[in-house]
Amino acid sequence: MPSKLAAGNWKMHGLKSDLSELPAIADTATATSIPALICPPATLIAAAATPGLHIGGQNCHIANQGAHTGDVSAQMLCDAGASHVIVGHSERRSDHNETDKDIEAQAKAAWSAGLIAIVCIGETLAQREAGNCLDVLAKQLRNSVPDDATAANTVVAYEPVWAIGTGRVAEIEQITEVHDALRVDLCVRFNDGKDFTLLYGGSVKAANASEIFSCANVNGALVGGASLKAADFCPIIEALA
Ligand code: PGA
Repeated sequence: MPSKLAAGNWKMHGLKSDLSELPAIADTATATSIPALICPPATLIAAAATPGLHIGGQNCHIANQGAHTGDVSAQMLCDAGASHVIVGHSERRSDHNETDKDIEAQAKAAWSAGLIAIVCIGETLAQREAGNCLDVLAKQLRNSVPDDATAANTVVAYEPVWAIGTGRVAEIEQITEVHDALRVDLCVRFNDGKDFTLLYGGSVKAANASEIFSCANVNGALVGGASLKAADFCPIIEALA
């Protein structure tokens, strides 16, 4: 059985004062027994430690250390208190030209530091409209999730690029079709494919979370904007319970 996960990606948002949102999120996670994760900017990871809440990074370099100005390593994230790291978010793929092969290496770096890798995949609107969506996603999954991934060290997040930060959530039929296809691909490739946690991301909010979580192969969400405030994120955690 896949574990459930309510994950929040703060992106480049958050100052020390925003950490006051975390205790209420941790309380909801504890009350519902739903694992919750917040990925704040790297500057806040150490200070974000909150009992009952997992903390993660938003990206990592493939080396533990070295001459890589401005980068953060998986080992550093772990040292700061992270348990997870997002790799391959579409904003990293587009802003930093990260390729599937880069992301595969980042996932391996995450594991060697003891972190769980949340590998993101997603099609653009042009790819969906061209009818290539499932092929594009199968290729991203194959090339960015390493061959030795397990359900214990890897979470897969499907985030249609056109649904991220746009308020335009994918239709339930679209989410179901993609997640069912991803599950089949994972089961073909991995012995424990049926146990991988599969997240949906893209404009998830309290108002649409229950419907999204009703899809059989959706085991949680990767939430951007609606993870910044406990008042918005706690109902999403509750919807997963
Ligand atoms: P959003 O972002 O919830 O603001 O659409 C999701 C994400 O980028 O992970």
